[in-house]
Amino acid sequence: MIRYHAAWILPISEPPIRDGWIAVDRGRIAAMGRPAASGIGDRDVDLGRVAVMPGLVNAHTHLELSYLRDEVPPSSTFVTWIRRVMAARRAWPDPAAPEILDAIDCAIAESAAAGTALVGDISNTLVTFGPLARSVLAAVVFYELIRFNAPDPVSFVDEARRRIAALAPSERLRASLAAHAPYSVAPLVFRAMRDAMHGDPFVPCSVHLSESQEETEFIRSGEGPWRELLEEIGAWDPAWVAPGVSPVQFLDEGGFLGSNVLAVHGVQMSSSDLARLAARGATLVTCPRSNGHTGAGAPPITDFYASGVRVAIGTDSLASTPDLNVFSELATMRALAPGVPAPLMLDSATRQGARALGFDADYGTIEPGKRARLLVVQMPPGAVDVEEYLLSGIDPQQIRWLEI
Ligand SMILES: [Zn+2]
Repeated sequence: MIRYHAAWILPISEPPIRDGWIAVDRGRIAAMGRPAASGIGDRDVDLGRVAVMPGLVNAHTHLELSYLRDEVPPSSTFVTWIRRVMAARRAWPDPAAPEILDAIDCAIAESAAAGTALVGDISNTLVTFGPLARSVLAAVVFYELIRFNAPDPVSFVDEARRRIAALAPSERLRASLAAHAPYSVAPLVFRAMRDAMHGDPFVPCSVHLSESQEETEFIRSGEGPWRELLEEIGAWDPAWVAPGVSPVQFLDEGGFLGSNVLAVHGVQMSSSDLARLAARGATLVTCPRSNGHTGAGAPPITDFYASGVRVAIGTDSLASTPDLNVFSELATMRALAPGVPAPLMLDSATRQGARALGFDADYGTIEPGKRARLLVVQMPPGAVDVEEYLLSGIDPQQIRWLEI
């Protein structure tokens, strides 16, 4: 057992500890506290003027799209951006092309270098499962279903479940299902997914929800640019009837929203939508830099926290964000919501993401029994409010992993 001493320790589960220590035994946290009267001994390491905190959680990304870095320019309207992504992906029909696999490996390395310990990774092809299994990251790979016109929704979902059941999970890597979005997934597919996951202990499930104005328009009226796009690509279902409500209300009334759901984006959510999500115990995953790039708009971060909903953070894919640094998302969130207490945002970047992904027994806080996958952040002279400093934009050069 080794004791690590640091100027600041951020357990997240309690306020920062000034001049504290953490004892690590066989890769796990054994104990923590303030300096003992005996001072520094043989098995003690003084880390100096640093902050030690849990590894970050990127609760929403698409590692398989990493090859699209800098390939899809920003857009002022969301459907235009989606059209550009669809065109870019069509140019790469082989999901296991060497360039795509290389970009996935680079993105995983970049994530770890930026302080991420755990990711929620959305995949249409499951091509990221192998690279993640070989990596240092913990992850849930969400096999994402997208099918608006689904004549046999139950078999469609069953086939997807068979595919993820064939993957070998590990202590650090699991697979689950995601629905793409209410405008691209048939109501009966949502129902089949809900039924498939009902009764399981805790199976996380993800869905892009209330991301754009075009989405809220389509779910309310059945019209607009989404309808045009679905018709254009031959995915329209003439039997579909517009729900006439908000996307959140639509999924809630279908019984889809629960504490296992990660609802991603929420840019267009009203206060009643947020109250509904909070009542269900779902987690809202905000990806503010992506929202700015895709034309979805700025997420109402202050409203998210005021509503009491659980908030986690994602970078989204490299097709819509310049890097996979969760500290950069925190800096954007701070700029959008100067009044939200810093501890709440740090909680979102760690504990909330770990809980939403079902990995809170090992990640998300510094507590005895959890993995010692901990970040050491260099603190500059003069920085006194450590929590606020961590929201100011931290570069990979300022951090390292605790070597245990
Ligand atoms: Zn996404």
